[in-house]
Amino acid sequence: MKLDSLETLYVKELRDLYNAEHQILKALPKMAKAASSPNLQKGFQEHLQQTQGQVERLDQIFTELGKSPKGKKCEAMEGLLKEGAELLEADAEPSVLDAALIAAAQRVEHYEIAGYGCVRTYAKLLGHGEATQLLQQTLDEEKRTDEKLTELAMGSINTEAIEPETAPETKPKVQKTARGTSSRETRP
Ligand code: FE
Ligand code: FE
Ligand code: FE
Repeated sequence: MKLDSLETLYVKELRDLYNAEHQILKALPKMAKAASSPNLQKGFQEHLQQTQGQVERLDQIFTELGKSPKGKKCEAMEGLLKEGAELLEADAEPSVLDAALIAAAQRVEHYEIAGYGCVRTYAKLLGHGEATQLLQQTLDEEKRTDEKLTELAMGSINTEAIEPETAPETKPKVQKTARGTSSRETRP
């Protein structure tokens, strides 16, 4: 595809995101399964639902454009998710794995934030008002997801990973008082 206009670049970038979202749809259930913190599991599951909605928004935008959403593989997302998948193979303490899953997920969200920020701006410049709104909604979801991941990490997951308790089978994530951590993970 010759990049001969902003419109062409817009379609190319949308296809990249479309492919990235489909890769994420496959990865999130595995990440949820690997997480030990119930709040982190819930966070991944909620973002899976959101991601389905994000794909629908892209479908709507492509229909409007009269173009196919297919035709571009996002190599970067493949790489990011491959690094995430390596974690699942690793011999890891559950709390350290949770911290690592957050780090991997935040890399994914940052990639999406960059991508959606660009296409939202292109849509606006090209006068696609409806698409601008749809892309802004997704951008806001990705940003909020990134913030929630930070809140989970800072809430207790990172601190628990400093000195993982040699774990009981089902470990409740409560009442950790060492180092001033709060008694329970919080989530807005
Ligand atoms: Fe997404
Ligand atoms: Fe990409
Ligand atoms: Fe996302």
